[in-house]
Amino acid sequence: MKRQQIRKLILLVSLLLLPITMWYFSPAIIIMGLVQHVLTGSFFVFLSMLVISMFMGRSFCGFLCPAGALQECAMSINVRPAKQGRRRAIKFVIWTVWLAILVFAFAGGQGDVRADFLFMTDHGISISKPVNYIIYYTVILLVLLPSLICGRRAACHYICWMAPFLILGEKIGKLLHIPQLHIKADKNKCISCNKCESVCPMGLKVERMAKANTFYKCSDCIQCGACVDKCSRKVLSYSWKAEKGR
Ligand code: SF4
Ligand code: SF4
Repeated sequence: MKRQQIRKLILLVSLLLLPITMWYFSPAIIIMGLVQHVLTGSFFVFLSMLVISMFMGRSFCGFLCPAGALQECAMSINVRPAKQGRRRAIKFVIWTVWLAILVFAFAGGQGDVRADFLFMTDHGISISKPVNYIIYYTVILLVLLPSLICGRRAACHYICWMAPFLILGEKIGKLLHIPQLHIKADKNKCISCNKCESVCPMGLKVERMAKANTFYKCSDCIQCGACVDKCSRKVLSYSWKAEKGR
């Protein structure tokens, strides 16, 4: 099985597991926990993502994220690259407001601080009551609609509440000069055929990055490797080495 098939299979499994795992990706559950001084499963998941992204960049988005899986399904309906620009700032605004709420929730919370990984779940299962499907399908629509209307992985670009964590972790990793997974280009071999760009699920200017070997500077690259596998000239490859000038 080829790498992209394996990647898409993992994404599909992650999507199918969403009724079980949803609360572990929930920013609301963290707040509900902190009000009671409970560190929830989603608290630990978000913290792990921050740490892992120092070493792996945004690979979580490329290989494991159920919302990413959903959006890649939407690519068969709208394959246009989502417009970049100021809309990308929306997710950072959401994230900043959410962080402020977390601080207030914890400050106003009561009781001893304790961990409960399964907080608000039914034996670890998130969607265990029919009423929870209202939340489930609301989130599905929230993720799906931007991609259907605006193009490839638009929810990742505009509204994802987890992306800022991964971007922050990636930046901390770079500051600490930690060798980090990224795509590198043997730029002299590139013939500007643009095939890599046609398959990028994030709709990035891949050919331009290949020509300048600047993937390591791009916080939107999710290290999915679709461009690597598409390039018949073997211009692109994965690398763990720290790049100069990061
Ligand atoms: S597919 Fe390869 S050769 Fe073609 S533009 Fe991309 S990096 Fe260059
Ligand atoms: S640039 Fe390549 S590795 Fe990065 S998101 Fe696009 S296709 Fe995936």
